[in-house]
Amino acid sequence: SILEEFRHRYTERNALSLAQFKQDAIYMPGANTRSVLHALPFPMVIARGQATTVWSVDGHSYIDFLSEYSAGLYGHSCERIWTAVNSAMKKGWNLGGKNEYEGKLAQMLVERFGNSMDMIRFCNSGTEANLMAIGTAIAYTGKQKILCFLGGYHGSSISFPEASPCYTMNPKYEFVLAPYNDILATDAVVEALPPNSLAAIIVEGMQGAGGCIPGRPDFMQHLQKLASEHGALFILDEVMTSRLAYGGLQSTLGIKPDITTLGKWPGGGFSFGAFGGRHAVMEMLDPSAKKLVHSGTFNNNTISMAGGIEGCNIFDREAVKSLNDLGDTLRQRIADVLKQRLGHRNTSDRNEQANGAVASASKIYISGVGSLMNVTFAGANKDILQAIFYHYMLEQGLYVATRGYVALNLETKVEHLDIFVRAIEKFVSDYQDLL
Ligand code: PLP
Repeated sequence: SILEEFRHRYTERNALSLAQFKQDAIYMPGANTRSVLHALPFPMVIARGQATTVWSVDGHSYIDFLSEYSAGLYGHSCERIWTAVNSAMKKGWNLGGKNEYEGKLAQMLVERFGNSMDMIRFCNSGTEANLMAIGTAIAYTGKQKILCFLGGYHGSSISFPEASPCYTMNPKYEFVLAPYNDILATDAVVEALPPNSLAAIIVEGMQGAGGCIPGRPDFMQHLQKLASEHGALFILDEVMTSRLAYGGLQSTLGIKPDITTLGKWPGGGFSFGAFGGRHAVMEMLDPSAKKLVHSGTFNNNTISMAGGIEGCNIFDREAVKSLNDLGDTLRQRIADVLKQRLGHRNTSDRNEQANGAVASASKIYISGVGSLMNVTFAGANKDILQAIFYHYMLEQGLYVATRGYVALNLETKVEHLDIFVRAIEKFVSDYQDLL
């Protein structure tokens, strides 16, 4: 089959990656420590990166359209981040105390997300940030139920895949699920709860891992109202979306969450998570209040704090805007290609996508907001088409996620978009009969 041919060529071209895969598989299940990096027949090993190029150990170069699932905002080996971290590290790291950087980064992020955030705390990943936010909501409200959404992803141990082929590592919280972007169905789920049991609603402003599905503003505003009517906290997971507007996606959705969670880019490209919100909630975490303990050896680690400060300097209002403009342009150009070549109703209109209109009309569609997007396949052969697309793009020298996810970075230029759009055009014309 077509896919087997792609995989055969891939195996031939990537002998060194295959050798490392086999060696690592002795000590790591599936030679893997991040499920998302699993790829068939085996993942390629990336040896180095510079600006927006990555090189595999097999000596091939790719334009990086994955950007470390959005955490690689600055492009590879960013000089300014390197300098900031290097000068911090010269003074030692793991110093076992408060450091000079944490307060500065806290101030920068609170000022940036000031729409809803008065205070902030750091941790080491987006997963942790969401676990801490949920724990805080349970402690603050004294209630247990957490409303989440199908297709939602809040980290390795808080995920709700729509079609789950396997177990998740979700803890035994009292999660209840509702469909995303569906006000009536969500109301029905909440009405069926025992009285006074809802501790929190946690939601992404755009479902990232769920396929870059933009949340409808009216849905988001409704959730905020619902949370407040039920004495629950409204948690907005901005781990993926905080890059989509200077004050986070919340600033474009007309909402003011009680707690916002962050991850990825604000740590300068190093391990990072944070959660912040209103005074009344966050003050529970003041150790002298003796209400709620939150600890973590690396919460204030020098590298993420110093790298994050420089990252926030780099990703200023202008950089946010131009990166998102670039993403809007790319999505529009892809939508135009699909429309011209396939005659489908492809569009980058966020509401149409959110309503599912696009998915039902096409076997390939593009969705997303600003610099984050997904090329997704639908129909009976969707998994095979998605895998073919992944290998096709690799053969064109373009690195995207296996699930078709694309994140731009600050080194992405219009010339890279041109190459990407040409590859899509070629893909669509080569496989027109399958689409
Ligand atoms: N929340 C969202 C919306 C994410 O996209 C992710 C990661 O992709 C996470 C949480 C988890 O972040 P981390 O991988 O840093 O644990």
